[in-house]
Amino acid sequence: MNIKALLGLPDVLNVKKVIAVQPHPDDNEVNIAGTLLELSQRGAEIVYVTVTDGRAGAWGDVQNPDEIVAVRKEEKERAGDIIGVNKHIDLGFPDGGVYSVDEVTSQLVNVFRMERPDMVFSVDPWMPYEAHPDHVKVGQAVSRAVLFSNNTIIYPNVNHEPWQVPQIAYYATSYPNTWMDITPHFERKIESIIAHKSQFDNETWSFVKLYFTQAASEAYKHISQDGTGFAEALKVLAHLELHSIPTTVFS
Ligand SMILES: [Zn+2]
Repeated sequence: MNIKALLGLPDVLNVKKVIAVQPHPDDNEVNIAGTLLELSQRGAEIVYVTVTDGRAGAWGDVQNPDEIVAVRKEEKERAGDIIGVNKHIDLGFPDGGVYSVDEVTSQLVNVFRMERPDMVFSVDPWMPYEAHPDHVKVGQAVSRAVLFSNNTIIYPNVNHEPWQVPQIAYYATSYPNTWMDITPHFERKIESIIAHKSQFDNETWSFVKLYFTQAASEAYKHISQDGTGFAEALKVLAHLELHSIPTTVFS
């Protein structure tokens, strides 16, 4: 049973407004820059929500959290300009710090009601071996907010009317069901990643770039066997698949 088809939900390329929620200031570029570039080219509105401030991303001699936060915010905006991001919302939770899934969820419910996206992108919190607490907590908070942004009993309507987010697209997922051809955008994706100079412009970049290239090339094999393109893998689910559907893992 294809719940998305039953609900008449559009596929990823036909959505008009998306919110890409990232735990850290570079996750969107690393995972879905190509998809976002394609959506931007097709006229979709793109809102970035960055949940943590990136203060744990020290590099070289730079260990001052306030300086790290300021530099990473600038880098995120430069990368967003490359992608065509229309708006940035920063939630400012401490990178790697103490905060709860509930706190993030209630802020995201508010953002989803305010922005009314027809698709939300974020990390898959159920990726086995994901050890980073920000990725697990943010992925869970986004999932809950997609499930409950239309529910005014759990989240009373304070500032904005309730809104049902129709679907979610997880990235960094071990259970992909959708592969996006990003071949025309791959060079620009790499450009948007390296815009995060503080994180990637170092001695490991050639290895990291090789890994991204290889991963995108492997993902492309799900689209075509000709072996000349690049793709990004997503797990796209209807909101109804986020509760009590045992087959969602195979969807
Ligand atoms: Zn991250």
